[in-house]
Amino acid sequence: MHFDILTLFPEMFSGPLTTSILGKAQESGLVSVDIWNIRDYALDKHRIVDDTPYGGGAGMVLKADVLVRAIESVRGDSKTPVIYLSPQGKVFDQQMAAEIGELPRVILLSGHYEEIDERVRSHWVDLELSIGDYVLTGGELPAMVVVDAVTRLLPGVLGDERSHLQDSFQDGLLDHPHYTRPASFRGLEVPEVLLSGHHDHIRRFRLKESLRRTMLRRPDLLEKKSLTKEERQLLKELATEYSAEGRVNTNESD
Ligand code: SAM
Repeated sequence: MHFDILTLFPEMFSGPLTTSILGKAQESGLVSVDIWNIRDYALDKHRIVDDTPYGGGAGMVLKADVLVRAIESVRGDSKTPVIYLSPQGKVFDQQMAAEIGELPRVILLSGHYEEIDERVRSHWVDLELSIGDYVLTGGELPAMVVVDAVTRLLPGVLGDERSHLQDSFQDGLLDHPHYTRPASFRGLEVPEVLLSGHHDHIRRFRLKESLRRTMLRRPDLLEKKSLTKEERQLLKELATEYSAEGRVNTNESD
């Protein structure tokens, strides 16, 4: 998979893209990333990329001519989709990460300052993605978030292919709790079942804990999920536990 990232601040990408999983994925050729400086597409002598908004008001607007020159030059004759990172876009999630990962190539456009010229949005952008309901200074961090989330789902990227399958959101639930050695730490014990070596009991325990976490922290996910018979049974058990304790659907208490 190939990412083209259009930005005014290419230097922001060097650390995150070259370390850990993203660095390794590029070294092994599973992913490639080109960073393009939007300023290189400003033709005037001062390489101006922004201007004041028509109608007045605060902030600067990234110019349509510069952005379109950048997009068209990077896209060439291809039909590569352009994704604009914007707080007004669809909120990015695990499913979108998987869908983007099906594409051979995407162009990620990072905005900055007050906004980009609306005409670019409406005519050259195929999809707007937000990484959450808050406003950042620029689209660079969101672009990195998208590249990271998409890359770790690509076949061959994670050392253990099962790793992402148990991650939160993968099957509509939050991940179960994890423990490692020592089995006893300051009087806190690892749940007995995890030491039992009984694979099916461990699987069922983890599924129940995933359901518990999801029920307590993100009940909205449960509403969207189609539950298996076993999951419905485990949820019933949890409901009984909590009603016995008189604390159904309380806040975090696990
Ligand atoms: N005035 C814009 C608004 O209220 O929608 C916000 C502009 S923001 C200061 C500058 C740039 O940061 C945006 O053009 C966008 O590329 C990026 N950005 C900010 N917050 C974002 C978010 N939550 N998700 C994705 N991109 C974001």
